[in-house]
Amino acid sequence: MNAAAQMSEASSPHVMPTYGRLPIALSHGQGCRVWDVNGKEYLDALGGIAVNTLGHNHHKLVPALQDQLTRLIHTSNYYHIPHQEALAKKLVEISGLSNVFFCSTGLEANEAALKLARKFGHDKGIERPEIVVYEKAFHGRSIATLSATGNIKVQAGFGPLVEGFIRVPLNDIASLEAATAGNPNLVAVFMEAIQGEGGVNPMHMDYLRQVRALCDQRDWLLMIDEVQCGMGRTGKWFAHQWAGILPDVMPLAKGLGSGVPVGAVVAGPKAAHIFKTGNHGTTFGGNPLAMRAGLETIRIMEEDDLLGNASRVGAHLVAGLRQALAAELSSGGVKEIRGLGLMLGIDLAKPCPGLMQQCLEQGLLISVTADSVIRLVPPLIMSTAEADEVVAILCPLVKKLLAAEP
Ligand SMILES: *Cc1c(COP(=O)(O)O)cnc(C)c1O
Repeated sequence: MNAAAQMSEASSPHVMPTYGRLPIALSHGQGCRVWDVNGKEYLDALGGIAVNTLGHNHHKLVPALQDQLTRLIHTSNYYHIPHQEALAKKLVEISGLSNVFFCSTGLEANEAALKLARKFGHDKGIERPEIVVYEKAFHGRSIATLSATGNIKVQAGFGPLVEGFIRVPLNDIASLEAATAGNPNLVAVFMEAIQGEGGVNPMHMDYLRQVRALCDQRDWLLMIDEVQCGMGRTGKWFAHQWAGILPDVMPLAKGLGSGVPVGAVVAGPKAAHIFKTGNHGTTFGGNPLAMRAGLETIRIMEEDDLLGNASRVGAHLVAGLRQALAAELSSGGVKEIRGLGLMLGIDLAKPCPGLMQQCLEQGLLISVTADSVIRLVPPLIMSTAEADEVVAILCPLVKKLLAAEP
């Protein structure tokens, strides 16, 4: 083992131990493949957690980014940034919404959304605005977004939490109505169309339409966090589009820059003019390199029909998983295989803490979320042959795990 590999196995004395790291260090990649510093090859079914939309070393993205590096990386939002205006125009076009604020990460996009909701309330004379959030939600790790998050592990040790959130269960319109009945301070409903970290939990299409109608009736903002499920992952640009609705506010990040940090909050007419000059800002947001990454990602996705590919390969992958795990599905060892396009969760009846490591040893990158849900969020360029490989490596390990004593 060489020095770099040894270092990756020991935990670094200089890096805060915020992540329990697997014992490899990746060195380079091509398409859906990555190699570690020892030359071992892996199939990437994680895509840097739904980030590497175009996989690795994409032949169209890399030259465009190289070109941008020689021009401008960063300026400042003191000046007009043509690539920012172009990416905003493109996001407006594919979302049907109207205005964009750019930042660099998912939590920042969600912070902007929460600030929009509060100011929407203040502008109406509501001094203590409240926002509906969901059980098992994940919105980030800043103080406000971890308060909106539904996982007490994320919140533990960081109190006092930000107030003004009301939490409800998923897919239950009666609970939402009951929790908000007669509350004059309610300003917004904030949800992931498909919860990612919470275990790949989709909101039902009917439920999305019911919440849209309720928000219209009560003059609330519908804010849909598409940080993980958006940007083509489900086979449409945005997961809520499957329900035929429009949100008022939509935070984006992860896949938007195909690995370059880019975040955005996209607003419809009801929320587009809430922020006035000086109300919000960020140094890095909307810089030329990030904007070029977003523009090229979308351009390449359109050119290569990656929405179609996500749908086709996702359906193929689900079919393969269902077939390989048919016995486990009927015995209940696999509770459910769910998700849309290339955002899939395999919900096991027991926790699988060692599975990421076992997959690693077999040359496959995946993740496990909510203790017992295997999450597959590969690059959207994945082929059906690669999807077959995921099934061939993953399913025997799942069978073995379920067959073992508890
Ligand atoms: C990852 C994620 C975030 C946080 O994004 P960061 O870039 O890590 O801050 C927020 N919301 C959802 C739905 C996510 O999946």
